Amino acid sequence: ISSSQREFDYYLLALEWPGTMCKSVSKCCNTNGCCDSSVPLYEFTIHGLWANYDDGTWPSCCGSTKTDFEINQVLPLMGEILKYWPSFSCSSTSLCHGKNGLFWAHEWEKHGTCMFPEIKDEYTYFSTTLDLYAKYNITKMLENAGLLASNDASYPLTEVISAIESGVGASPTVTCSSGNVEEIRICFYKNFKPRDCVLESNSAYNKLYSSSCPEYINLPSFTSI
Ligand code: 5GP
Ligand code: 5GP
Repeated sequence: ISSSQREFDYYLLALEWPGTMCKSVSKCCNTNGCCDSSVPLYEFTIHGLWANYDDGTWPSCCGSTKTDFEINQVLPLMGEILKYWPSFSCSSTSLCHGKNGLFWAHEWEKHGTCMFPEIKDEYTYFSTTLDLYAKYNITKMLENAGLLASNDASYPLTEVISAIESGVGASPTVTCSSGNVEEIRICFYKNFKPRDCVLESNSAYNKLYSSSCPEYINLPSFTSI
């Protein structure tokens, strides 16, 4: 990992909603997490932990072939990774150096390698991500606010954002696909205290702030392919 990389400003944990992700998937391509009925998914799963700059941009693929994903480093975490970090999509993840088609391995190469020296190796990347995921249960926060998965109900985007704000203590970004919640992203200072994902002082604020979502959004139930 290059230490000449400009230091990032904050962490972003991107979580995705299986009920939405699996709508655009027609076959199961991975033994590691899938949209079939073998492991029904009723909770947000992990997309990745990302490095961001305050100006709304971000670094990516900061590694070398030396930081290519190496499975040995994460064997102790494999049980949790398989459970919480599925690879839904069949499209290849060959950006950076990835060749093995595992979504989470791609996330290390694209994003994890840009967090040096805070995240010094692959093991630290995966353990940090899993710890944050366990600490901030987005699905529970929505449930507590009465926002339950449903194929009938739709909810005001503002209520979704408020539920996360009270649970996390800072504002998330929400992304949608055809009115369905696709991702909820929560952000952290480098000391892992929560912070707003998009600062109003940021010139990209209006573009970044949940702009792909309509005023009322859906949280579709998981249906297996
Ligand atoms: P999307 O267009 O779905 O928001 O993002 C596509 C890809 O761009 C993501 O998979 C991610 O790799 C990258 N990306 C989008 N937004 C951010 C961000 O705020 N920070 C970082 N580090 N990457 C992002
Ligand atoms: P990003 O660029 O956002 O970090 O990663 C997204 C890339 O990973 C896309 O090319 C997408 O097709 C692929 N991918 C493979 N499996 C998954 C998955 O389960 N969820 C998402 N969001 N992308 C996946």
